[in-house]
Amino acid sequence: MPTILDGVHIRDQIKEELRPRIARLAAARRPPGLAVVLVGSHAASEIYVRTKVKTSHDLGMYSDLLSPPETITTDELLAIVNRLNARDDIDGILVQLPLPPQVDSKRILLSIAPEKDVDGFHPYNVGCLVAGLPAPRACTPAGIIQLLKRYDIAIAGRRAVVVGRSDIVGKPAALMLMHEHATVTICHSKTVDLAAVCREADILVAAMGRPALVAEEYLKPGATVIDVGMNSLDRREDVARIFRNSADKVAAFERRGSVLVGDVDPHAMAAKAGAYTPVPGGVGPLTIAMLMANTVEAAESRLGLC
Ligand code: NAP
Repeated sequence: MPTILDGVHIRDQIKEELRPRIARLAAARRPPGLAVVLVGSHAASEIYVRTKVKTSHDLGMYSDLLSPPETITTDELLAIVNRLNARDDIDGILVQLPLPPQVDSKRILLSIAPEKDVDGFHPYNVGCLVAGLPAPRACTPAGIIQLLKRYDIAIAGRRAVVVGRSDIVGKPAALMLMHEHATVTICHSKTVDLAAVCREADILVAAMGRPALVAEEYLKPGATVIDVGMNSLDRREDVARIFRNSADKVAAFERRGSVLVGDVDPHAMAAKAGAYTPVPGGVGPLTIAMLMANTVEAAESRLGLC
């Protein structure tokens, strides 16, 4: 039986480890502060943001949710970020993506003070990751490394294949695995014979946003499979095909009108992997835990209480 890498369990472990650090900061000076900027109304982003704000409250952190209108200009949003950069009580700033088309997202991300960039997306922090220097790390890949380590899955010397080269998941995940001494291959939409490359992986990270694309023939028997994909299926025939008419999934679809699936065929993972992350309940919960960890670290560093 494969090991199911339970992201909820590891998230809770990480949160419990953060509590005494947050209490120490609050007792010595003040609680860590996180500012979340959510522009306009975007259903998925609102859910993510609410979860982030709720988690920080539950942990005893201070959080501020700013919700400027959808019509905001780049300059107006820059002014908001600059005010947050200057605030002493804010250690972490998160600007929820995607931003509306009239806003220059790159300029906004560049304007966040690197030491408050708890998403780890600022080019300065990406450079620190490349160079192996301490700095906030991108949360989703950092969560993947935590998951592997806490389940005692060896990384050093193993073949890791990362499918996807985005700035927020694929690239930083590949760099982090390399720093953990894996031999890393990065794949993308132009990779020839993706299945053959994936079959070499002892650790396969799928981060494409392509529902259940990774099929059984992509998997080496016993591989560890990290499924980052979060794809919403809203067609009954897709749910029936991918989940082989699973009564639970069909019922969930009938209730909600959609169900989530990762980038890996769930049946293939269960049949062939040695360990794998379920969707939902695998990588997703860790992203928020690592955001909290980055904010606590930023506060410790800014308050000189490391
Ligand atoms: P993205 O920016 O759209 O990047 C997708 C990457 O996958 C690109 O590099 C693309 O290649 C590659 N790709 C697309 N189709 C492919 C194919 N058929 N074969 C090989 N490579 C292919 O996506 P992202 O932001 O990294 O997110 C990826 C997935 O992870 C999404 O489902 C997203 O919702 C999910 N996600 C989950 C979490 C979490 O917390 N669980 C966090 C972030 C993202 P090219 O570069 O050649 O275009």
